Amino acid sequence: MPPTTLSVKSRHVAIVGAGAAGLVAAREFRRDGHSVVVFERGKEVGGTWVYTPHVEPDPLGLDPKRPIVHSSLYSSLRTNLPREVMGYMDFPFVTRPGESRDPRRYPGHREVLMYLKDFARESGVEEMVRFETEVVKIRILESGKWNVQSKKRSCFSNENENENNDESKVEFDDEIYDAVVVCNGHYTEPRIAQIPGINSWPGKQMHSHNYRTPESFRDQVVIIIGSSSSAVDICRDVAAVAKEVHVASRSMADETYTKQPGYENLWLHSMIDNACDDGAVVFRNGKVVLADVIMHCTGYKYHFPFLDTEGIVTVDDNRLGPLYKHVFPPVLAPHLSFIGIPWKVVPFPLFELQSKWVAGVLSGRITLPSQKEMMEDINSYYSTLEAAGIPKRYTHCIGDSQFEYNNWLAAQCGYQGVEKWRKPMYSAASANRRLRPETYRDEWEDHDLILEAYEDFVKHTS
Ligand code: FAD
Repeated sequence: MPPTTLSVKSRHVAIVGAGAAGLVAAREFRRDGHSVVVFERGKEVGGTWVYTPHVEPDPLGLDPKRPIVHSSLYSSLRTNLPREVMGYMDFPFVTRPGESRDPRRYPGHREVLMYLKDFARESGVEEMVRFETEVVKIRILESGKWNVQSKKRSCFSNENENENNDESKVEFDDEIYDAVVVCNGHYTEPRIAQIPGINSWPGKQMHSHNYRTPESFRDQVVIIIGSSSSAVDICRDVAAVAKEVHVASRSMADETYTKQPGYENLWLHSMIDNACDDGAVVFRNGKVVLADVIMHCTGYKYHFPFLDTEGIVTVDDNRLGPLYKHVFPPVLAPHLSFIGIPWKVVPFPLFELQSKWVAGVLSGRITLPSQKEMMEDINSYYSTLEAAGIPKRYTHCIGDSQFEYNNWLAAQCGYQGVEKWRKPMYSAASANRRLRPETYRDEWEDHDLILEAYEDFVKHTS
């Protein structure tokens, strides 16, 4: 990567969140000469990767007033991407020496947190973070600047989120910024499957956001809805102790009913048809299961309770918009931006490139199209989705085009695109996961690509 050029304008920027997106954004903005404050309601950097055994009191996450636990990690979680692909481009996620470090190619969640902490410390970003400070309101002023209201109190820690709500410890702050960058993550606000008859079904329901360990499911009959990485991991975790585990997936044909190879108690079904008041759950394949628990592994909603754009930016069926290239709302660009909205992607390098782009646009080195052109681009994207029959809620699901998107961002910033091994390694990892769903984290064949990646890493690690 070439060194960044001198910035044209320096802005005072507020970043919401010190997860993987906020951290790299802070680094890129500072590199470009902006003055940055990162607001983080937790006690430490890392966002999603700060594991906590605590869960929310409302297991489905429906109560808007519930105390929020940010992370959705479960105890056994290992990454679903190989570390070479997963890391930032200029801070490779290589194995570090030390007894407490996890050298595996698909490490456990703690290793990712340690990597992000290394990044925050070594890039000097940590000192820019105001910890235990929650942004409660952001609104635009007539001057075009942004008013950021925050509150600081010591009970936002990840250890004791559900305790200590002593309001006397709260300090409020009210400040003005030139620009706001939203990096608050989107794996905290649960989405729930709609099931006919569920209101009179007597069993227990929960969302995977509140799943940590399998113990409480011992000898139970559990239905897991979903087919994402979390559903795939959690059904295996739970099958180790439960009597039966039934996975319901809406992407499966109605007749689907298969026993998972290697398991005596794990079945894959089509979606649930309805639930009954005697505890029975009926699948579209006609099977009926008397279940104790339904766990919704059905994803999350974009949620910005602190952001007041006077209706300019809205969330509609999980489409956050209008956003030019998933980042800038045209009317408020470049002073409001969102980093990390796309999903089914390799997040960290994408965050890095989006951050470089926003930093360059804010400093005036990179020019955006006119508002009208940005709106035309957004509308043409929406029309393409509609013509292809892709539902609104998939607006930001850019899995198949993510590398093209990254290369487009890189080109805007005057950089070469992503390294040439990254896309084939991502494809090899996806194929390997399909081929070896039980062992893909410990067995692979893309050794040549690993060598290529490490040859590339030398320039950042030596
Ligand atoms: P987050 O990490 O969620 O960080 C957002 C931060 O904003 C948090 O620290 C939060 O406290 C803070 N915040 C929120 N609201 C406020 C507020 N109002 N005021 C102040 N601070 C606020 N990605 C991978 O690359 N590999 C994987 O293997 C992988 N596995 C995953 C498994 C699970 C179960 C989940 C849920 C996600 C996984 N991901 C994985 C995706 C993961 O979310 C991203 O890697 C990344 O951590 C997202 O970073 P982020 O900064 O966008 O959001």
